Amino acid sequence: MFRNFRMISNVIFGRGCFNQLDDILSARRAGSFMVFLVDDVFENSPLAKRVPARGNDLVLFVNVDDEPKTRYVDALTTQVKEYSSALPDGVIGMGGGSTMDLAKAVAIMLTNPGSAADYQGWDLVEHPAVYHVGIPTLSGTGSEVSRTTVLTGPTKKLGINSDYTVFDQVVLDSELTAGVPKDQWFYTGMDCYIHCIESLQGTYLNAFSRAYGEKALELCRQVFLEDHEDSADRLMMASFFGGMSIAYSQVGVCHAMSYGLAFVLGIHHGIGNSIVFDYLDEFYPEGVAEFRRMLEKNGVELPRNVTRDVSESQLDTMADVALGLEPLWENAFGSEWRTIMTKDRVKQLYRAM
Ligand code: NAD
Ligand code: ZN
Repeated sequence: MFRNFRMISNVIFGRGCFNQLDDILSARRAGSFMVFLVDDVFENSPLAKRVPARGNDLVLFVNVDDEPKTRYVDALTTQVKEYSSALPDGVIGMGGGSTMDLAKAVAIMLTNPGSAADYQGWDLVEHPAVYHVGIPTLSGTGSEVSRTTVLTGPTKKLGINSDYTVFDQVVLDSELTAGVPKDQWFYTGMDCYIHCIESLQGTYLNAFSRAYGEKALELCRQVFLEDHEDSADRLMMASFFGGMSIAYSQVGVCHAMSYGLAFVLGIHHGIGNSIVFDYLDEFYPEGVAEFRRMLEKNGVELPRNVTRDVSESQLDTMADVALGLEPLWENAFGSEWRTIMTKDRVKQLYRAM
């Protein structure tokens, strides 16, 4: 079966294009209100003053110190429902991957009953979401184009993968990424770099994924190994293309193992991927060597010994979470992946980190 996936309907790109958001939303206003979910790093910032809220629009500053949890999505959805019995005309997420994922999930949960945890999986959402807009302020995750919103629930870290998850509109204005701290910029950028490596070396690869993946990889090299005035624009496009590449393929070993680290230790996605990737020479030798050159060029030091105090049972959980992500392993090694990646081998890799 070939995947017939949905894509974003509208994309605006360019430095300063955020100023057109008010016009874009005006066309969508139908007498109700808009909900802006804004990363709370922008509270009291000049950007917060530029949010084009009107009338009875609701602006909620969201906290992403922890990566999005289904509980948090449920609480935000309840907050919107208590604010008004009417459905909003739109939900706008402004921030990194975490905030964009929260916005996607809230837009879905406003029209679907129950808890966000009920929809973690593939194609479980029944009703179309409220119109939703993604505005990245940090580049790399590809969340702006993907059909998933990654959530940690009571029993698993797994996305709500659905056609209804995809944004209706994205606003790609690299000026918004100006204030990102250097390490965060690097780690989230490496998420994109690793998407490319895992997609391009995967068994699911086809010409569609390769076209996007190769371009995104080339842009990552320009951003992290060269110096360019418009590198923020380039990274924004790398993120977008990296996301498009995995739309028709999958990620691999690094992402599977990073999910395990996140579930047990709460380590965030970009940094978790970077920690894991440094131990994957045997699977992605050229990618890991180039990644180390990127670390060096940008003066970034990886955290070490993160699993030092992990108990045997925690290690088991980590390995189980990682090995549960079957499509990722299958993409990495093919259908016989279980003969290559045993639980002992996964645990051994974790112990080294
Ligand atoms: P993030 O959204 O978690 O943000 C990281 C930090 O950067 C936060 O402290 C945030 O406040 C800060 N920040 C964001 N923009 C800033 C700016 N312009 N200036 C200063 N600080 C800023 O980071 P991320 O790496 O973009 O996203 C990670 C999340 O994305 C994880 O939850 C991961 O699971 C998810 N993810 C989703 C997809 C998808 O397809 N849906 C893909 C990959 C990752
Ligand atoms: Zn990723």
